Amino acid sequence: MALIVQKFGGTSVGTVEKIKNVASRVTATKQAGNDVVVVLSAMSGETNRLVGLAKEAGASSGREYDVVLSTGEQVSIGLLSIILQGMGHEALSMLGSRVPIRTNAHFSAAKIENIGKENILNACKDGKIVVVPGFQGVDAQGNTTTLGRGGSDTTAVALAAALEADLCEIYTDVEGVFTTDPSICSDARKMEKISYDEMLEMASLGAKVLQTRSVQFARRFNVPLMVRSSFTETIGTLVCKEDEDMERAAVSGVTYNKKEAKISVVRVPDRPGVAVKLFKPLSEAGINVDMIVQNISHEGHTDMTFTVTDDDYEEAFALVKETADALEAHDVIADQEIAKLSIVGAGMKTHAGVATKMFETLSEEGINVQMISTSEIKVSVVIDEKYTELAVRVLHDAFGLADSDVKEEEY
Ligand code: ADP
Ligand code: ASP
Ligand code: MG
Repeated sequence: MALIVQKFGGTSVGTVEKIKNVASRVTATKQAGNDVVVVLSAMSGETNRLVGLAKEAGASSGREYDVVLSTGEQVSIGLLSIILQGMGHEALSMLGSRVPIRTNAHFSAAKIENIGKENILNACKDGKIVVVPGFQGVDAQGNTTTLGRGGSDTTAVALAAALEADLCEIYTDVEGVFTTDPSICSDARKMEKISYDEMLEMASLGAKVLQTRSVQFARRFNVPLMVRSSFTETIGTLVCKEDEDMERAAVSGVTYNKKEAKISVVRVPDRPGVAVKLFKPLSEAGINVDMIVQNISHEGHTDMTFTVTDDDYEEAFALVKETADALEAHDVIADQEIAKLSIVGAGMKTHAGVATKMFETLSEEGINVQMISTSEIKVSVVIDEKYTELAVRVLHDAFGLADSDVKEEEY
């Protein structure tokens, strides 16, 4: 007998009819002799609706904002439990505070600190299917917190780690992890397996199929993760430790992120301490700076360009403008119409010329590269946002990632 955590995303629980489909999946797993812990997202569109309501009421962060946002998941778990009970199964919904899923007090982006397993395991022992809301936790003072958008994935993986589950299944609206977002590239190929490291890069570079934090948990606690579709029986993608028979292609995936903005400080004095002065206020405000490029010095001045998320853009701009004025920089300019485009692959470590091929492919399409950053297993560039889809498709093609490319190679 195994313990399996099954997580269903927003589209999988979008209507009562779809929740009935979830109920069938869950009960099939239970009837096969397993203990099942279910984690649900809010019904699709619901969290966005709640964000809108909270904003209209005057909040876009803080304690009460999380009180509002966490309700979406509560509705889905109640509905699934009602349906399961109606089918004659013993089901029990268990809120984050009841589990408990203990987090820090960083509202809207809380981090899980520990999870109590007693309540869930006792309920499982009594033969119950336990249904837990994704995305929600409780801080040390008993306040409800939420884990950041897409956080239900993290709830599921963290629960699987805490309960030492045999498998964590992430059910979503696509059949697995693809070589790129299948919604913009119709010949994207589903991967059979992907390593934690590559998945971590893909998630953090924009592949929203898994929340980045969930992959960090999976890697740290060695939780086998299976990403698969709620709507088909097709076997999905296994996210696991790198192993011998894993693909060794130089590039295994292409990702994009349109939710970034670029800020340039023009002609700032080039002397020690300037970078600290510019970036310290940002880190103190909890703003993550992503790519940074500094131009060569000219007449004692340089240009400094960096990117932040769209959400942090306004605050980052105001903070940097203040410092830049104090440093007597010439100007601060910004561009929100940019996208970060990345190629990811563990095979890059041993293949030369990958970045060059990326730049060549983009230049053939007349797409200008504005910034570049690399790591051992990825190359990222900033481009004009309007070319995102085209760039994804030509890179996917150039690196031979399509379904048809693989088949051709086999002959
Ligand atoms: P859920 O609501 O189930 O959590 P999400 O919308 O968060 O689902 O994630 C699934 C979506 O992720 C897919 O519909 C797909 O468009 C997108 N996606 C982006 N990149 C990838 C990728 N490389 N592989 C699979 N899906 C991807
Ligand atoms: N409902 C939350 C969101 O839409 C969490 C999740 O679905 O993972 O971001
Ligand atoms: Mg998601």
